[in-house]
Amino acid sequence: MKKDEIIFDLINEELQRQEQGIELIASENFVSKQVMEAAGSVLTNKYAEGLPGKRYYGGCEVVDEIENIAIERAKQLFNAEWVNVQPHSGAQANTAVFLAVLKPGDKILGFDLSHGGHLTHGSPVNFSGKVYQPFFYGVEEETGLINYKQLEEVALREKPKLIICGASAYSRDWDYAFIRSVADKIGALVLADISHPSGLIARGLLSDPLPHCHIVTTTTHKTLRGPRGGIIMMGKDFDNPWGLTTPKGEIRKMSALLDSAVFPGTQGGPLEHIIAAKAVAFGEALSDEYMEYVLQVKKNAATLAKELVARDYKLISGGTDNHLMLIDLSNKDITGKLAEEALGKADITVNKNMVPFDKRSPFVTSGIRIGSAAITSRGVKEAEMVQIVGFIDDVIKNHDNESRLEEIREEVNALMAKFPLYS
Ligand code: PLP
Repeated sequence: MKKDEIIFDLINEELQRQEQGIELIASENFVSKQVMEAAGSVLTNKYAEGLPGKRYYGGCEVVDEIENIAIERAKQLFNAEWVNVQPHSGAQANTAVFLAVLKPGDKILGFDLSHGGHLTHGSPVNFSGKVYQPFFYGVEEETGLINYKQLEEVALREKPKLIICGASAYSRDWDYAFIRSVADKIGALVLADISHPSGLIARGLLSDPLPHCHIVTTTTHKTLRGPRGGIIMMGKDFDNPWGLTTPKGEIRKMSALLDSAVFPGTQGGPLEHIIAAKAVAFGEALSDEYMEYVLQVKKNAATLAKELVARDYKLISGGTDNHLMLIDLSNKDITGKLAEEALGKADITVNKNMVPFDKRSPFVTSGIRIGSAAITSRGVKEAEMVQIVGFIDDVIKNHDNESRLEEIREEVNALMAKFPLYS
């Protein structure tokens, strides 16, 4: 077969883009070579519907071993009792949870998308807001912190079956114990979607939801630094929260409901090449090097935040406890959209983001979200973070000065050349 030059040239172009630029998209990271090798392996050829030891296809002995290792490593990493490593993505993991524990029309309570939540937590444009009846809590306008009072009020009034915590753009830790106490008052289940900070949680740098939340989902490709994908987990004592029994009187385990909601409920064959890459990434995340990495992610984010505040940038909640922050640009006379575009011209990649109580549309926005997970994987430390904030500020101030943006781009490329990615 002739090599597909068109596609491989484009992949090369993308490699160069990733190598030359400063990657600040909070949901992205750079996987190790061995994670990429597993993801690009012969396992992509294999069908393996079902679970290890209970497949609908022959020839699954090897993938069974791999999937079992992925499960055991994830359990060890998160101190979980049960894990399903098959969801193709974070959205798929959440879809499976909803299918397992809710009926169409049931009420759910999630963190408002426009305040930092995720589409799959009840947005009207997503299945979660179309199939179920969504209610929301947000952040307090003055502090930018989760409005736990509002969460409790809405929960007690609406009595949702599921309360969802976790976010895509929230820079602070969560009070999982409080959310569980609210859920217990109304007999609701709690889902923590820790997609963003899961790497920091795994290594004890943020509060652990597993002792409090019935179900925990995460993507594997953000701070966890694995391949694109999702997993579903449960902690101790949560396997039968409803006391359900089968007609034969056996305990109806929630883990069984979740397993069958993944397959055959919402997916077909698992991606065993990605599951192998997840196993490799979980192994890496258990290492001392990864511990150093997540500590540096936090330090780098804290430096970014401190330097931005020093340059009169408004951060929602005033700072960060994790790897990301939301910058409100309303005092800088530039929209999120324009800032994203101008930073892009200087090879600094960010995403525009609505800020809580934003008056602009999601296509324009008043803010940008930035994070330190990817850039820290390049090996940069606090000194470079100070330099990066200097670049950002320079771009924002000169966003309509094409020649200055070009000069900054050269400085950005020169900085990143000192931190090789895969070469
Ligand atoms: N949940 C949260 C909190 C997220 O931030 C994201 C992705 O950004 C997802 C779920 C969805 O993950 P995926 O893009 O893998 O479907």
